Amino acid sequence: MSTTTHIAATGIRKSYRKGRIEVPVLRGVDAEVEHGELVAVVGASGSGKSTLLHILGLLDAPDAGRIEVDGRRIDDRPEKHRDAMRNRLFGFIFQFYHLLPELTAQENVMMPGLIRHGLWSYWKERARIRREAGELLERVGLGHRLTHRPSELSGGEMQRAAIARALLGKPAILLADEPTGNLDAASGQGVLELLRTLNREEGLTMMLVTHDQQIAQQADRVVRLAEGRIEEWVPALA
Ligand code: ADP
Ligand code: MG
Repeated sequence: MSTTTHIAATGIRKSYRKGRIEVPVLRGVDAEVEHGELVAVVGASGSGKSTLLHILGLLDAPDAGRIEVDGRRIDDRPEKHRDAMRNRLFGFIFQFYHLLPELTAQENVMMPGLIRHGLWSYWKERARIRREAGELLERVGLGHRLTHRPSELSGGEMQRAAIARALLGKPAILLADEPTGNLDAASGQGVLELLRTLNREEGLTMMLVTHDQQIAQQADRVVRLAEGRIEEWVPALA
């Protein structure tokens, strides 16, 4: 696992255009995650949580602002470098898993290997990639589900498979967008505990978007997106 990685976003602005109207979503967001830290992002639906996560992970470009990893700016590189950097640095986890239905769990986990290597070198490396995918599925508690297709897995199991897939390239930073949002409380808690374990044991830096206060409270730190800005979030005293 990579030893780096502190990620910082500074002055991030992003608007979307709806017809003639420009809708500001992020109005100068500063956010950072220390190496090995797990930060939760909360905020109302539509507050820009996914937008921020996509910008941090180089899936989308900000209108203004910068993204730095270990003090080096990464968002202004030529597209080819950005693509390579995205694949090397980040693992993504989404609410609806985005597993390919016709592939087994193990084949799904192998997919980033195909994307990273290109077809020819993938073909040469596929035995190793297959073995790594199997080990990762074992790591997330799915060693007995390698040949199951997504339709044969529970929601919690699908998310575990998606986590294994996100780990295939040994990313330094995991970005998770409502990873428990589609799960019942018990499976959601299981997925959070898995992420927490990976965070602690592998020193994986994580930013996790969630609606769920129970989930957010288990992070090292919680920030809230509101009015296009980030504020530190202090849990209400019960
Ligand atoms: P959240 O994840 O907090 O629910 P999003 O980041 O998905 O919020 O969206 C923030 C706002 O930006 C919403 O008002 C949404 O409608 C708008 N938005 C997001 N993506 C696009 C897009 N591609 N085009 C236009 N508007 C968008
Ligand atoms: Mg969202």
